[in-house]
Amino acid sequence: MADFRTHLSVAVSGGALLAVTGWQAALWSPVDGASLAALTAFGGILPDIDSDHSHSIRLIFNLFALLAVVAGALWLQSRLSPAGLLVACGGLYLGVRFGVGAVFRRFTVHRGIWHSVLATGLCGLGVTALSYQWLAQGAWQAWSQGLALTLGGLIHLLLDEVYSVDLVGSRLKRSFGTALKLFDYREPGNSLVMLMLAAGLAPWLPPWQALAELVSQSARLWR
Ligand SMILES: [Zn+2]
Repeated sequence: MADFRTHLSVAVSGGALLAVTGWQAALWSPVDGASLAALTAFGGILPDIDSDHSHSIRLIFNLFALLAVVAGALWLQSRLSPAGLLVACGGLYLGVRFGVGAVFRRFTVHRGIWHSVLATGLCGLGVTALSYQWLAQGAWQAWSQGLALTLGGLIHLLLDEVYSVDLVGSRLKRSFGTALKLFDYREPGNSLVMLMLAAGLAPWLPPWQALAELVSQSARLWR
């Protein structure tokens, strides 16, 4: 499989390419393009979230912890004194970084359910719903942000699969077929839960019409 640095650099390149291409085609502004590039890069390391000692997991949970602190500070600033706010934010950071991280590690196996197209799609839908509902982004932006994260995740899965082909001896390593999977075949129950979660997001998603327009406009770029 590809290592962390390879994953990150390929995803960052993919994100930059996406941002610049869309900006040139006047699909989005440079600022929107930059957030899409960042989401693609993040998606590119997300599938390894379940590898217990990877760089990815440290980075991902550091990012989650920072996001939690920002959200917590915004929400609590009118409710707490500055000192209380500081303690609450410190607690949030440590809780998410180490607490949630440890729980996540305990209940996941590497290349399990999170290393799949299904999980990547679910995370993309989650981003779309979050940015549409809570960040008050337009339908178009919300869909493109979710798609950017999914794209990064797909790049990751493909890259792991490519690395499992021994190019010199042109034979397949044993890990072939374990990286790019639609869902976790060993745990159909968990996959079903994930599928239900994805379906459960439906009421919070922006209109599908916007997604269809986005896809058809993007497809036109490649013709
Ligand atoms: Zn991987």
